[in-house]
Amino acid sequence: QRQHHLEERPMDVTVENVVRTFGTTAALHGVSLHIRAGELIALLGPSGSGKTTLLRILAGLDAPTSGRVLFDRDDALKLTVQERNVGLVFQSYALFRHMTVLENVGFGLSVRPRSRRPSRSEIKRRALELLDLVQLSGLDTRYPTQLSGGQRQRVAFARALAIEPRVLLLDEPFGALDAKVRRDLRRWLREIHDQTGHTTVFVTHDQEEALELADRVVVLNNGKIEQVGTPDEIYDSPNSPYVFSFIGESSVLSVSVDSGEVWLGGRRLGIPACGLGDGPGQLFLRPHDIDVVPSDGDGIFGTFTAVRRHGGAHRFELEVDGTEERIEVELPSHVDRAVGDTVGVLPRRWRVFA
Ligand code: ATP
Repeated sequence: QRQHHLEERPMDVTVENVVRTFGTTAALHGVSLHIRAGELIALLGPSGSGKTTLLRILAGLDAPTSGRVLFDRDDALKLTVQERNVGLVFQSYALFRHMTVLENVGFGLSVRPRSRRPSRSEIKRRALELLDLVQLSGLDTRYPTQLSGGQRQRVAFARALAIEPRVLLLDEPFGALDAKVRRDLRRWLREIHDQTGHTTVFVTHDQEEALELADRVVVLNNGKIEQVGTPDEIYDSPNSPYVFSFIGESSVLSVSVDSGEVWLGGRRLGIPACGLGDGPGQLFLRPHDIDVVPSDGDGIFGTFTAVRRHGGAHRFELEVDGTEERIEVELPSHVDRAVGDTVGVLPRRWRVFA
């Protein structure tokens, strides 16, 4: 497969204190973010958190109520959509139905002003090269209706890449596809990104997709950034209860912190509170990050009240002694435990929040 080289250098993108209000609703409440040239960034958040609004502002399809957007050092808000030279891919493929695949891919180049428009043969050469890159060689004379959903979305990518965008903006690009095709296209997008090196921002509400694909993940909640970090940072060191429970699976227990130690129902758990001051707290755990411990030491003690299979493991529900609370504990299926057992457990990783 040929390498596709960027003719324009990828750009840094800086978002400074961006606010966007619609009437009395604030979709973005002062968002600041620095995206490095060539990075693959996921904007992750639930419905209504402001992901699309931020992407549209980057694209120039919408303008902030206040704040700044810089492409390298240039004020992007003074540039038109064409001048920004961004590649856009949306959830709905939005291909031109009356054009062949090849014509669709070449479209962005063919409508350029004459001074910047390549010759017809050059447009065709580049479109064929891109179809090769997105692994659709041989389908150039088909029409969009003759393609599968995944193929259409790859044509949409090729079309977005054809203009040699300095930034690629993707809004739930795999949202309309079934699970298997989504997973394949994720891997495919990562490969394309690694070959082409575009600064890329993609919107998703799927945490698995964000963690698998992105160099850094931006977690949005209610128009604010909760956390920005690498997938490992976001998963292993969530900095708020919101991020902990939004990313991955979690159980929560009401605890108290006394002299830097975590207590539950009058018992010392034997785990440090990681700098949290004395007072009530919430202990966040992950079901697959918990070990069974001996009954004569520190730990969270209780009774297994239910079990179900979870992939290759067993997921037990543990009713914690002296509380009304339950947590989930995942054990390998070969571990000989049953409903009704009284056990002690300790998390391998946890966070305590006030
Ligand atoms: P989804 O995943 O559902 O697309 P999102 O995270 O992309 O959600 P946005 O579409 O950015 O969220 O919307 C953020 C908030 O701004 C929502 O409360 C939404 O109702 C509001 N909003 C967005 N666009 C408009 C508009 N044109 N007019 C009024 N309110 C809007």
